Order: sequence, then structure tokens, then C-alpha cells
Amino acid sequence: MEKEDRLESLRKRNPITTITADEFARFLSCKASDTKCESCGSASFRTINDLADETNAAIFQSPVGMHTEERIGFISTLAIMCENCGLIRHHAYRKVQHWLNEHPIESSIQGSDTDGR
Ligand SMILES: [Zn+2]
Repeated sequence: MEKEDRLESLRKRNPITTITADEFARFLSCKASDTKCESCGSASFRTINDLADETNAAIFQSPVGMHTEERIGFISTLAIMCENCGLIRHHAYRKVQHWLNEHPIESSIQGSDTDGR
């Protein structure tokens, strides 16, 4: 399979979709709740949000495979920033997305019988 076809099928299988800042914060509070800044020791962080829509976490995409002649693809991350010293820490988008899919908020699940008319 050609590289472009491979990339295209990867994109279709694993599309990058929006993760809200609240969802990212929920992931962090369950998976990394005792976070302390590695640089200054502060426990005060905030999510870095999308400039176009502040309710969404910003998605960073770093090119990978650039040492070769052809670009291979991107790794997608979400990030938090220390409120004290500004250190930025990235979490792999796929890990966050996977965890959110495995741990939906109960109240947001549709189809409860209170609606069944
Ligand atoms: Zn810090």
C-alpha cells in the first residue's frame, strides 16, 4: 500500500475529534490528580484551550518522521500549563480520547426511560 493511502486509511479509522477542556480536566483529575510542576513544584495548572473556541482543549500536532525525505505523519497532544512558571506538559491525544470513551459521564448517556413516550 502506498504511504498516502496508508495515512488516509489511518485518518479515517482514527479521526481527530474535539475534546472539551472539561473532558480533558476530567481525564487529568482521574489519571494525574496529584500533579506537581516538575520545574517549580506548583500544583496550579490550567488546560491550554483552543483560541477559536475556548471550551475546547487545543490540539497540538507535531510532525514525526521528518528525518526522512517524506513526512510520515503527526502525533497529536493536549497540553496543560503551570500557572506559576509556565512549564507546558503534553499528554497524548489518543490516550485521553481512549480513556474518555471508556469512562463516559453517566448523566450524559442518552435513552433513559424518563424520555420514553
Ligand atoms: Zn511551574
